[in-house]
Amino acid sequence: MDVSTFRAWITEATRLVVDNTDHLTHLDAAIGDADHGINLRRGFEAAQAMLDETSPATPGAVLTTVGRALISKTGGASGPLYGTGFRQAGKTLGEDPDVSAIQLGTALAAALAGIRQLGAAAEGDKTMVDALIPAVDAYRAVVDIGGDLPEATRAAADAAARGLQATVGLPARKGRASYLGPRTIGHEDPGAASTVLILQALANATAGLAMERAAS
Ligand code: ADP
Ligand code: MG
Repeated sequence: MDVSTFRAWITEATRLVVDNTDHLTHLDAAIGDADHGINLRRGFEAAQAMLDETSPATPGAVLTTVGRALISKTGGASGPLYGTGFRQAGKTLGEDPDVSAIQLGTALAAALAGIRQLGAAAEGDKTMVDALIPAVDAYRAVVDIGGDLPEATRAAADAAARGLQATVGLPARKGRASYLGPRTIGHEDPGAASTVLILQALANATAGLAMERAAS
């Protein structure tokens, strides 16, 4: 996975976040303060602009640039959390020009660790972590049996989607939604929903779909 595939990932993530801004905001309206879609759209558009301006030379630099943009522009709880995740992932990749399936797995695990360290959310607290934990596990399981990047990233996105569905039955224990506690049962967690989009974008990028879309 080279720098252009990482750029395709972020372009695709920005596209999916923009397309789903209203949906994410709607989810946040039910259990939070109705800004998640707007926050994330602002963050990803800023990340995209910063990438266009600076053209980072390596995959690691792409991710740390995205992290910096998300931290400074997204706002809300999700901005620092996603920003930290991207920065930690970028750090693990160092200066390598080409990233293997195993390295990407390490980067995803580092993103999860950074998010958990900052937000202190446990599995089942109804946050983005509930989508990311099963995604990291599913990714690893596929790589362990010799799966390639498209297979592993697709498995991660599918597992995240199942994790998102599981948040519906849970009461929120972290962030603004925790103020509503049991009244959040029956609703998807907005951050888990955006994690699914970001991982779907990754799967699309490694499958070459995102680049085909950009070329057409
Ligand atoms: P805010 O809650 O400040 O309005 P957003 O609406 O942008 O920020 O993001 C809300 C999402 O952030 C939640 O749906 C949840 O997934 C995630 N989140 C909130 N607090 C935490 C936390 N401590 N750890 C992990 N994720 C969290
Ligand atoms: Mg919110």
